[in-house]
Amino acid sequence: MTNPIYIDQKEILKHYKQPDKHTHKGIQGHALIIGGSYGKIGAVSLSSKACLKTGCGLVSVFIPKCGYTILQTAIPEVMVLTDNQEQIISNITFDIKPQAIGIGPGLGQAVETQNALFQFLKKNKTPLVIDADALNIISKNKKSLALLQPKTVITPHPKELERLIGKWDSEEEKMSKAVSFSKQYQIIIVMKGAPTRIIDGETVYENTTGNASLATAGTGDVLTGMISSLLAQSYEPVSAAILGVYLHGLTADIALPETGYQSFIASDVTANIGKAFL
Ligand code: AMP
Ligand code: MG
Repeated sequence: MTNPIYIDQKEILKHYKQPDKHTHKGIQGHALIIGGSYGKIGAVSLSSKACLKTGCGLVSVFIPKCGYTILQTAIPEVMVLTDNQEQIISNITFDIKPQAIGIGPGLGQAVETQNALFQFLKKNKTPLVIDADALNIISKNKKSLALLQPKTVITPHPKELERLIGKWDSEEEKMSKAVSFSKQYQIIIVMKGAPTRIIDGETVYENTTGNASLATAGTGDVLTGMISSLLAQSYEPVSAAILGVYLHGLTADIALPETGYQSFIASDVTANIGKAFL
């Protein structure tokens, strides 16, 4: 394995940009989170709230109709667009122009949703973060990888990674497969785990923040929202991935003395994003 670049405070300051004090919400970035299905609207709720808390000016979500009241009530700051279907996403069309899109949290894998994803990928030119069931759908039809724009960020956990690149027998083999995959499709892989590594072609970054309290439902959805937010704020895709992963882990390190490993939940990541920035 090539030596990784460690993502520590020194490295992070090469990527972080101070907000401009004259900015306003219209130029602070508009992110769109696409996902959700009946019983999994919470994933979009977690993701879109984390997106807002990471600093972009506007956040919209695109969800099935059943999530409308849930989202509007849970997060009044978020704008809600809905699919025609009640329980699943079947046709991804919208008339807004976000600067970044995150897709996948809670999406489900219904056949209509799979088709909607492929149609969306065919026409999408907006910087994109792909996670969760969107990755699982792509894994079932590897030809669809050719539809991804260069520098698309994907955020697989170990099982999702295995579905994409196949099984590995050793850490070395996993890394070499991931590097080849990143080079072949010109995409950035956020290989979630302990530690999380980010692969941008031959360059490998290794995160230094985070702890086992993150091993709980929804923390990955929160990360998708955070990286999408940074992309919408015009960070380069690799910088958005690096900064998002570092801040995400740091929230868990900050919260640990109060929550212990056991009672930390995904919402605690979001609640501590501000302290992580500070
Ligand atoms: P997901 O499985 O998609 O919900 O993502 C889980 C998130 O929690 C990823 O960002 C992982 O890197 C992180 N995570 C899970 N377990 C650990 C662990 N033991 N140590 C550090 N980070 C972890
Ligand atoms: Mg996940």
